[in-house]
Amino acid sequence: MNDAPVQIVEQALYEVRKTIHPRAVHGWFAGWRWALVWATQIVFYGLAWLPWNGRQAVLLDIAHRKFLIFGLVFFPQDVIYLAVLLIISALSLFLFTAVAGRLWCGYACPQTVYTEIFMWVEQRIEGDRMARMKLDAAPLSARKVALKAAKHGAWAAIALWTGFTFVGYFTPIRELWDAVWTANTGPWETFWVLFYGFATYGNAGWMREQVCKYMCPYARFQSAMFDRDTLIITYDKERGEPRGKGAGKGDCVDCSICVQVCPTGIDIRDGLQYECIGCAACIDGCDRVMEKVGRPKGLIRYSTTHALEHKLTRAQMFKRAFRPRVLIYSGILWTIIAAAGVALWQRVPLKVDVIRDRAAISREVEGGLIENVYRLHIMNTREAPRRFDIDVAGLPTATLVGEAGVTLEGAEAKLVPIKVRIPAGVLAAGTHPIHFEVQARDDDNVKVSEKSVFIVR
Ligand code: SF4
Ligand code: SF4
Repeated sequence: MNDAPVQIVEQALYEVRKTIHPRAVHGWFAGWRWALVWATQIVFYGLAWLPWNGRQAVLLDIAHRKFLIFGLVFFPQDVIYLAVLLIISALSLFLFTAVAGRLWCGYACPQTVYTEIFMWVEQRIEGDRMARMKLDAAPLSARKVALKAAKHGAWAAIALWTGFTFVGYFTPIRELWDAVWTANTGPWETFWVLFYGFATYGNAGWMREQVCKYMCPYARFQSAMFDRDTLIITYDKERGEPRGKGAGKGDCVDCSICVQVCPTGIDIRDGLQYECIGCAACIDGCDRVMEKVGRPKGLIRYSTTHALEHKLTRAQMFKRAFRPRVLIYSGILWTIIAAAGVALWQRVPLKVDVIRDRAAISREVEGGLIENVYRLHIMNTREAPRRFDIDVAGLPTATLVGEAGVTLEGAEAKLVPIKVRIPAGVLAAGTHPIHFEVQARDDDNVKVSEKSVFIVR
């Protein structure tokens, strides 16, 4: 029997974060990442200021319950288009992930994009990886305080501008700009500018890889979308090992550049790990090393499990990208995109909802008539003013009382009260189907027929 004293080792449930100082990297994939940083940010920061027909091109006007997107006007009744947009986004993510793994994470995810911008600022102010590590380890000094203050000041400015731009998609951005300068922003606008700004500052400045590792749900389930033919970033063990310098060694010189450039601080040579966001920084870093030591590039590269195991050529590997799963995702995706495009193209720029007046369901009025009261919610979904005629059909003896038409400004919605009367005794007690016909006076094709019922008690 072993009488050695049992040692109780306490294990922390929470792993204390070690700050990662990724080394700057240049190369083909870093170029692509920066191209996407520019593209996404020019669109994000610029689009909010783009004018269109005298108003903001993209305005999600929640207060007035309408979305204005270039020439299109969407009311809450158009929620189907939002659902279709979400389905298209989800299917695109499935498709891209099946083909090339975490492309979204590595190049276009806001977390990656803002972290890249914040790291660029950090490098400009505090210097490269070694300088930053030295500065962090150095005792407090005037220089350290000045550098840290400059960095956090620049981060806060970018974050606040991001929060301001974000809110500028929901409140006209020019009005918001004036309100900010006159300290007249409303409580919600102030809250969302600060909240979104704070989230940007915290996520891109402080949390960084922790968001991907611990907070992002996509990171957790994306491996379920991988198969053996999904492009992933891989280290070619067969070529690289045994690592080191000198005779009899593989191509990996064990310089650790691939680890130093990794924003999540992992070693890709240990195999595919869920922390890997697929940014390809290690490919760029290693390719430079291979250039220097006179070896072929691609010791770390995009490849597939299948290609590595069966030593497939690049052509063979890419041919396998067109597998049934990918073709099915693509087929469904393009069908939905085409259907949504046709639906948008043929969309009638008019929406009508019939709301029954609950207070006056059915009553007898002078002249021996039975009256039902309705309210028509008429929405002009084009940008120019329009006159609409209103009529009732379905019951031959039904007549409209009041004004049988309405003029709406561009992108305006109005509730129009309507009374329908029928001579008493013509219809039996109960409900009788009718429909309201609303038609643009200047265009016969712009008409909507909306069902309702006429009640006789
Ligand atoms: S960068 Fe390339 S050579 Fe250097 S350690 Fe990583 S895999 Fe090996
Ligand atoms: S292992 Fe390579 S691809 Fe993955 S996160 Fe690190 S640097 Fe990016």
